[in-house]
Amino acid sequence: MSKENKVRIYNRLFFKLYINYAVMLLVTAVLICLIFMKLYMDMTMERSLKELEYQAQVVSEITQEYIISEKINAFKNDIGRIEKVNDWDIWIVSNPMADNPMSYDMETSNTYEDFKAIPELSEYVELLDTTFNGQPVRREKYYDQIDERETIAVAYPIKMNNEVVGTVIVKQPFEEQPEIVSNSLYLIVLSSVVALGISFIIVIIFATELSLPISRMRVTALELAAGNYKIKTGINRNDEIGDLAKTVDILSEKLLENEIERQKLDQMRLDFFANVSHELRTPITVIRAYAETLADGVVKDPGTVEQYYNRMLAECKSMERLVGDLLTLSKMQNPDFAIEKEPVNVRQIFDDIIRSAGAIAKKKSISIELVNDDPVLMMLGDYDRLRQMFMVILDNAIKFSEENKTVHINLSKSDKIIVSIKDEGIGIAPADLENIFEKFYKSNLRQNESGTGLGLAIAKQIALKHDGKIEVYSTPGEGTEFIFYFPPYELEAQ
Ligand code: ADP
Repeated sequence: MSKENKVRIYNRLFFKLYINYAVMLLVTAVLICLIFMKLYMDMTMERSLKELEYQAQVVSEITQEYIISEKINAFKNDIGRIEKVNDWDIWIVSNPMADNPMSYDMETSNTYEDFKAIPELSEYVELLDTTFNGQPVRREKYYDQIDERETIAVAYPIKMNNEVVGTVIVKQPFEEQPEIVSNSLYLIVLSSVVALGISFIIVIIFATELSLPISRMRVTALELAAGNYKIKTGINRNDEIGDLAKTVDILSEKLLENEIERQKLDQMRLDFFANVSHELRTPITVIRAYAETLADGVVKDPGTVEQYYNRMLAECKSMERLVGDLLTLSKMQNPDFAIEKEPVNVRQIFDDIIRSAGAIAKKKSISIELVNDDPVLMMLGDYDRLRQMFMVILDNAIKFSEENKTVHINLSKSDKIIVSIKDEGIGIAPADLENIFEKFYKSNLRQNESGTGLGLAIAKQIALKHDGKIEVYSTPGEGTEFIFYFPPYELEAQ
């Protein structure tokens, strides 16, 4: 294979497929990673907030108990401890709007008014207002400006006798637990790499499955281009590639058929030239020999001289016949040559040729029998050509029959005009039957001395030009029958 026919490595189907596959895989991995992280964060946040809310509720309940017991110091101690253990900030804020607000002494942070007044605390006012209405509130991750860290917070109402007397705000630093994230990232990257590795093998198999037949078809196409029409892809699959391979195989078959046909035509042309040259050379040689002898003046006997002239004349006639036949044949074979058709009575043609052939038949005591019920059998055609065609057959029938035999001619009409010319002659060997219509195919028998081997070829061309068909049946030693079929011409219809 030449260099320019090679496909560059990075252009190969396999690499293209693999790159696509890898990109797809990486995109999927990144997407999964992102979705996973988001889910993980949401879940962690939700869980932390839920826990914190529960704790805030507990603190709120503790506070209620201490409001009743009025042990403020013990209460503050407890709250301090809880804060320390959990790294929390617990703010307890009294509700100034309540009918019986809790004692300000119990507050562990600024008062509601302070929250409103101090800018850093104002962001919690909304939380307080909501809880004062009886609803617990969560605050998702935010940056706490006081502690300067990521924080979550829950505010929970403190109720006494169905009245919100204050609020517990529990704040907790919120850490993302980076090791979990990095661990998961590591796992995802690792599994992506493993998946890429496995997919490499899968793609190799898949791409080979795909690219092997394609490259085989390519080789086939290159071979076809180089003129090797015997090559086949050898691919048998039931998918689109299989269809394509089948098409390539059909193409190579057709090319092979065309090539064989072309070679046959070439051979026929060569044979034809050889035959024509040969057929012409023989009479020319004979004429030249006689002419030279006569010119030399060696032969003086008037009887012999006349004999020589007669032989020369006969050879000239034979050449004339040959050239005439060749001209007719080339004319008939020309696809542009159209026969001038007119209504012709086939019966009339036969009356005509039987009269013409009568003399030769009589010489051999051969009788010609015509069976025809209908004196009018019309078809469209050229009278002279049709006459020439039937004459070739009748001529052969007489030529290849022994003396005292009969030639039977039968004319009939069904949906076709059927003409049968049957002799009781020497017959044709089955192996020769398919060749008799070939140009220059002729028997070397003595009775065929004047034959050119072009008669049946011309007859066939004339029949074809008249949309007709010729069949031939023969048994050696018994006789031969030629049957013609022609489309009839309906007089009444015109
Ligand atoms: P030609 O008669 O000039 O030899 P044709 O083309 O007419 O050429 O015939 C070709 C050959 O077919 C003949 O040479 C002969 O061998 C064979 N043939 C044709 N008609 C008959 C027939 N009626 N009986 C036997 N052989 C025949």
